[in-house]
Amino acid sequence: MKDTLTIALSKGRIFKETMPLLKVAGIEALDDPETSRKLILDTNHDNIKLVIIRATDVPVYVQYGAADLGVTGKDVLMEHGGEGLYEMLDLQIAKCRLMTAGLADKPLPDGQIKVATKFVNCTRNYFARQGRQIEIIKLYGSMELAPIVGLSDIIVDVVQTGSTLKANGLVPLEHMADISSRMIVNSASMKIKHKRLKNLLEQLRLAVDKKQQQQ
Ligand code: AMP
Repeated sequence: MKDTLTIALSKGRIFKETMPLLKVAGIEALDDPETSRKLILDTNHDNIKLVIIRATDVPVYVQYGAADLGVTGKDVLMEHGGEGLYEMLDLQIAKCRLMTAGLADKPLPDGQIKVATKFVNCTRNYFARQGRQIEIIKLYGSMELAPIVGLSDIIVDVVQTGSTLKANGLVPLEHMADISSRMIVNSASMKIKHKRLKNLLEQLRLAVDKKQQQQ
């Protein structure tokens, strides 16, 4: 609807860390997605709704205008490619690094290396820029297992503390990118609802700055 703002969020860490920022901008959810099965949550504003979807679907909803705004990790955004949307603000939450990792005591082969990952596009672009030959093995989770069972030489995954890698006998190798959650906006909404979106983004920017100063 023309006068409704729809914000796409995923459950868990992104929801928990985004809501305090939205609260500073005067927006509060009337339900908790951890306890409610609703996929559309009302807020304290009749014309602002939250849609609760999978993190990897957030850029798709925003690209097609099913949501005006969304919060998603830079990793998800790089995989999506960013068509039809603008990346407006680094919310400085859910920070981690996109890294390659491998077995601690196993040297890499000289020729083509096998890389297991769910970050297929990021991985292809990273190694192509360096002119390195790889074979990508697409997985949907538990990437750490792949080098252990000989499915791949290395993996590409997001790493926060490194304890998941360590627990599986892997070591971080190359730091590919810094990741954090970004506020994205549908490019048509940015024109049609410019004033409201600009205002909201400004308030969110102030909330992020204030939080950064307090840390
Ligand atoms: P850690 O053991 O702290 O390095 O966390 C690594 C695991 O947590 C990875 O396998 C990821 O699946 C997940 N993870 C850590 N940080 C993030 C993030 N910001 N966004 C999504 N997944 C994450």
